[in-house]
Amino acid sequence: MKILVARIPEEGSHYEGSEPGSIIELESDPVIKSFGDVFYVLYGQVVSGELVVRGSLNSEVELRCARCSEIFSTTVEVSDFLRAYPAPEGTDMVDITEDLREEILLHVPGFAVCSEDCKGMCSQCGADLNNGPCSCEKSTSPGPWSALDGMSL
Ligand SMILES: [Zn+2]
Ligand SMILES: [Zn+2]
Repeated sequence: MKILVARIPEEGSHYEGSEPGSIIELESDPVIKSFGDVFYVLYGQVVSGELVVRGSLNSEVELRCARCSEIFSTTVEVSDFLRAYPAPEGTDMVDITEDLREEILLHVPGFAVCSEDCKGMCSQCGADLNNGPCSCEKSTSPGPWSALDGMSL
């Protein structure tokens, strides 16, 4: 998204619209599958040689659940976008695309689960326990080393 600094009146300008999700798209990420359009509601104002942009962003994102590995979609919301760009007199345009991308990525949850009560996968057979219990024998409490199972050292 480019802001035409020269056209901003003294009281500032409102910007509302969207950018394609491809501005964020990652090559390959184990958790993030894809982004939808990035919607923005921003306000820009030039204050003593700086373009100050603030507002909110949101984007639909498809993530891989950290428990069951299923892909699910959720909305990433940024409610406090605030950046300042040097804009000395004569500045024509400022491109803020890279910052939109960065803010959205910062707000993608680090540990994303498809639902609060996702049951995840069986640590023994890998079955998705959301589809019902698997046929593995139930051990009443997992041993202290069970988290290390399957890890190759
Ligand atoms: Zn899940
Ligand atoms: Zn199992």
